[in-house]
Amino acid sequence: MAYQKVKGTLDYFDLDSKKYRFIESKVSSIVKGYGFSEMITPIFENTEVFVRSVGEASDIVSKEMYTFLDKGERSLTLRPEGTAAIVRCFVENKLYATPGIKKYYYFGPMFRYERPQKGRYRQFNQFGVEVYGDASPYLDCDVIYSAYKILSSLKIKGIKLKINTIGDFESRKNYTDALRNYFKDKLEFLCDDCKNRFAKNPMRILDCKVDGESDIIKNAPKIKDYLTDEAKEYFNNTLKALDELKVPYICDDNLVRGLDYYTDTVFEFISDFDGLAICAGGRYADLIKSFDGPDIPGIGFAFGIERIKNIMEQEDLFPKLDNLTDVVIISLDDESKICALKLASILRENKITVEMDYKNNSLKPQFKLSDRINPKYIVIIGEAERESGIYTVKDVLNKKEDKVELNKIIDYVKGE
Ligand code: AMP
Repeated sequence: MAYQKVKGTLDYFDLDSKKYRFIESKVSSIVKGYGFSEMITPIFENTEVFVRSVGEASDIVSKEMYTFLDKGERSLTLRPEGTAAIVRCFVENKLYATPGIKKYYYFGPMFRYERPQKGRYRQFNQFGVEVYGDASPYLDCDVIYSAYKILSSLKIKGIKLKINTIGDFESRKNYTDALRNYFKDKLEFLCDDCKNRFAKNPMRILDCKVDGESDIIKNAPKIKDYLTDEAKEYFNNTLKALDELKVPYICDDNLVRGLDYYTDTVFEFISDFDGLAICAGGRYADLIKSFDGPDIPGIGFAFGIERIKNIMEQEDLFPKLDNLTDVVIISLDDESKICALKLASILRENKITVEMDYKNNSLKPQFKLSDRINPKYIVIIGEAERESGIYTVKDVLNKKEDKVELNKIIDYVKGE
């Protein structure tokens, strides 16, 4: 075929687009209940926005960004993730100027040059939240709980919450030193990317998609042995709060998350069905400051919509989404077609879905169309109906037929 969609992208139409919108409206309505308001940012930003926040050593920045020069020679990047752009918008618009915790959610496409496979695309959609203003284990718990609630409201089962802490700055520094010390004489066994990560951010080595399962990485020092007392207490209180809310979790020492900005709590919801992360997030202490904003901490998470959709399809969790056409109008001559257009418009204004045939005047092809569409009602308009103002209405479901005055058709179709 001459024209095909770009590798790693998806088209949404018919039932698929309804499923996408179903997920969107369900998750948005839940977070609105938590007091989140929507933030809509451009799908591209100055490249620096992502380099500075996600980190040069991350796979996203070093390998996966769609970066290009515009006609004014500015380096722009299609957003690979949501947090950096939301922070940029928060700082640029001084949304920190009023007191209190700020809660935002976003929904939309992200772009990463990854190797396409099931559940991994080059354009995919994320739903995410970001909360600014406080660092508290109880806030961390509440944010994780909202992600947990989203999954349960979509009735998704078989999901594990993995959680870890990567500590405060002091813990991270101690841990980074320990990792450098451990890996310095093992570099020859690591991939080229990891050699690079060793210099820039050794914690990223633990996250490597190539070396990740090797014994060298499994036996590497664990962050829990390098946490400061404060970081330990923060994490324990987060876990305690999750226990109280009866949110099941698994502590995973090797969970470090692939983006540079995280501190303290990091988490992922993993599907038993395919082992993929359906949601991931964490706390970040100084991202807002690094955008020249005030010293305000944040926490957030992002869901992959395609992965949610995939699981919901496997577990048969979507309600019936193909809405039936209420009425097909059959019209028997050109003048009746005009009548049909007018009737269709009145019915549609009353939220009744209507289809009609625009071309044929004989009954046979119009009944064929109607058979295909399978509406709840068929209205027939011919010369006699036009003159009397009384239309023939077939109730397809109950297999009956009535003569109905024009101004009573709406009530009839609505069953009133
Ligand atoms: P991240 O921004 O990498 O923390 O990813 C957050 C979530 O987005 C993941 O848990 C996935 O559900 C989803 N996700 C990330 N990358 C992709 C991708 N390439 N294709 C589809 N979904 C993705």
